[in-house]
Amino acid sequence: MKDLAIILGIRPDVIRASKILKLLKSQSDIEFDFIWSGQHYSENMKDTFFKQLNVPKPDFEFEINKGSDADIVSSTIENLFNHFNDHKYKAAVFLGDTNTVMGSIAAAQHNIPIVHIEGCMRSYDWRMPEEKYRTVIDHLSDRIYAYLENYKSQGLNEGISENIIKVTGNPIVDIINDNLKYFDSGQDYLSEDILNLSNEKFVLATCHRRENILDKKSFENIINLFNEIEDVNVIFPMGYKTQEILRKSNVNLSNNVKIIDPIGYLEFMYLLKNSEYVATDSGTVVEEACIIGIPSIQMRFSTERPEVYDVNASIKFDPTQDYNSPIEQVTKLIGTNWNNPFGDGNSSEIIVEDLKQLSKDDNFKKHKPSDYQFDTSNSFKG
Ligand code: UDP
Repeated sequence: MKDLAIILGIRPDVIRASKILKLLKSQSDIEFDFIWSGQHYSENMKDTFFKQLNVPKPDFEFEINKGSDADIVSSTIENLFNHFNDHKYKAAVFLGDTNTVMGSIAAAQHNIPIVHIEGCMRSYDWRMPEEKYRTVIDHLSDRIYAYLENYKSQGLNEGISENIIKVTGNPIVDIINDNLKYFDSGQDYLSEDILNLSNEKFVLATCHRRENILDKKSFENIINLFNEIEDVNVIFPMGYKTQEILRKSNVNLSNNVKIIDPIGYLEFMYLLKNSEYVATDSGTVVEEACIIGIPSIQMRFSTERPEVYDVNASIKFDPTQDYNSPIEQVTKLIGTNWNNPFGDGNSSEIIVEDLKQLSKDDNFKKHKPSDYQFDTSNSFKG
């Protein structure tokens, strides 16, 4: 039996977990398999990140059914269930709130303890599949790594046991600290066109969330926002689903909005670092912008990362409401300072140390009455 199965499946997973994977490989006796669910599969959504961040290649890569969300989730569960028939682990580790984390159902079916990195974040926006996924996996978990104290409190409010939640800080801080010196080399990978565009002042943009691109009004409001940015170019690495929605819609982006395919991490961080501000609906990008001191417009009705507002690093743009420009507000943030609310940069170490300890003692299972917050005495009677 190996200690851990670590299951990841999308671009930001590789980025955020890169140090955890490297530490597990280099500095611990933990035996683990790194399993790639297959949710992201193209060179520029997957392999580029392994290369740029020196992440060890997965031990197993699944072929996923690439149709609907239901296809992705069901094939992930099936692939993992079959894998767990032949491979035994003390625990299965998942990260975040994606279709891939719903593979935790397969671990639950095999009664393998589940570890959730990025636990107890909540937007309280029940329109978002991500909110449902993260709630489900937290309640399936035997060990939860919550980045911040207030995320832990959110878990406690739902009756999750204090004993299983450990506050770690956010590993994205570790990745930024370790790679800051390489961000400027991102320009070496950019096409000449993008380099020329980024020689002058520019705004960076990303947009991919289902509730923004699949809702006509929200999508149009976001396009209006980009079209309002007239004086500078907007560089917009656009995910493939958003490209498809844009092609099928009858809205147009103005000429200064430059759409490009998704780019690598170093290129993206180079652009972020050199932008005036970023307009984004990405969870990770608002964190990154906040940490490196770039203002953001967060294009979301709700967020599970309210800290960026608390420290005055971000302006909310609610795409579900009648259009209300956030541009004047965000430009006032350019050049201002705020504190990084996401931790000290030692989160990956804290997580790896804890995984080492739990593996050594084979102590992942929580199934003890004392681990529940509420009165369980009735269930364990007799
Ligand atoms: N990113 C990237 N290339 C891009 C766009 C984003 O490397 O073209 C990185 C970005 O730095 C961040 C992560 O990908 O670390 C964000 O991914 P995404 O917005 O898809 O996911 P979310 O964080 O919303 O789950």
